[in-house]
Amino acid sequence: MTHRGKEACEVASRVVAFGAHAFDVEATAGGVLAKLRRRGSEITIVHMTLGERGYRAGGRTGAYAGQKKGEAERSASVLGATVRVLEYEDTHLPDDDEAKLAVCDLLRELRPDLVFTHWQGSWHKDHRAAHALVMDGCFFAALPGVQRARPAWAVSEVWFPENWEDPVDFRPQHYEDISDTYEQWLEAMDAYALARENLAAFPYRDFYTSLARVRGCQAGVRYAQAFMVAEPLRMRIYNQFAK
Ligand SMILES: [Zn+2]
Repeated sequence: MTHRGKEACEVASRVVAFGAHAFDVEATAGGVLAKLRRRGSEITIVHMTLGERGYRAGGRTGAYAGQKKGEAERSASVLGATVRVLEYEDTHLPDDDEAKLAVCDLLRELRPDLVFTHWQGSWHKDHRAAHALVMDGCFFAALPGVQRARPAWAVSEVWFPENWEDPVDFRPQHYEDISDTYEQWLEAMDAYALARENLAAFPYRDFYTSLARVRGCQAGVRYAQAFMVAEPLRMRIYNQFAK
């Protein structure tokens, strides 16, 4: 049950995973990132915001941002990933050309084959913004006429991990077996108090571990993570631009 019969490690030697908030990427794709790293891919996790407002008690936003930055670094090190934080403000992630060009510059610097980001069908405004920033960032990055410090770069594939906040019209198109990296994924999630303690209004750990088993049942393995994929035609056109 894989997208064009390929596993992630077959399409990617460099991977960049963009999340709107620190913890989104680790929870939704951490098992696959650990698997890719084990098979030799270079992994960069980009948190567009720290998600500093996802805390039940008011008045702790600043302290919680600092805590989440440390948690993000520990989580990335468990997965063998490098972490970047863009430090936009949680709940105020901009959806404008300036931010899209910042993503373009990052893509031209890191030159990933495979990119992960949010599916567009989200009730969270930052997640919808992250989707637009990354897809339009890929468009800018591929166009040689968009002149920046570095030359054009075309991403081969964009995959959208399954996120509880992005459920609108999400239908899995690609499954990755994460049975071998399941424990490592749990450790990466547990680097965050959000997973270990009841800091937010949603039981993240219960949801994502249960979902991994459900997707595993469908894929005929113990544990899996599921993805939608960007239209192949769109990605092929971007690749033609950059040639
Ligand atoms: Zn989020």
